[in-house]
Amino acid sequence: MTSCIFCNIVEGSIPSEKIYEDEHVVAFMDIMPVTKGHVLIIPKTHRENLYEMTSEEAAQVFSVAPKIANALKEEFAPAGLNVLQNNGAPAGQAVFHFHMHLIPRYDRSDGFQPQWDPQTDTFTVERIKEIAVGIRKKLL
Ligand code: AMP
Ligand code: ZN
Repeated sequence: MTSCIFCNIVEGSIPSEKIYEDEHVVAFMDIMPVTKGHVLIIPKTHRENLYEMTSEEAAQVFSVAPKIANALKEEFAPAGLNVLQNNGAPAGQAVFHFHMHLIPRYDRSDGFQPQWDPQTDTFTVERIKEIAVGIRKKLL
C-alpha cells in the first residue's frame, strides 16, 4: 500500500470500478462523477502531473481515450464529451497521480460548468505575439 490513492487502485489494494487495463494504462470510474460515465485514465507508473510524463507515457494514456470515448458514446449517447486534465492545486488537481478525465456531456446544465472568461483587454494581438516568442524560445 502506497500513500498514492491511484497507485493503490493500480495495485488493486483499494477497490475501484476498472473498465480498461493494459500494460501501461488503467481506466476506471470516477468515484464522484460529475456526469453519467465520468471516467479517469491513468498511467500505471506513478507520475505526479503532465510535467513528469515522457512523450511516450502521454501517448500511451491518450491512445486509449478514443476507444473509451466511443464506448461511452455507444453506451450513453451523450450529446458531447469533455477531456479534462488538471496539473497543480490552483488548476484543480486534487489527486497527485496524473489522470485524464473523460466527462460525457448531456446538456449545458448537467453538472460540469467550466468557467471561461477570456482576458481580451490584457491579451491583445501584440501581447499574444510577445508571449508566443517566449514560448518558442523554450521549445528550441
Ligand atoms: P482532480 O481534481 O483532477 O485531481 O480529480 C481527481 C478525481 O479523482 C476526482 O474527480 C475524484 O472524484 C476522483 N477520485 C478520488 N479518489 C478516487 C477513488 N478512490 N476512485 C475513483 N476516483 C477517485
Ligand atoms: Zn500514484
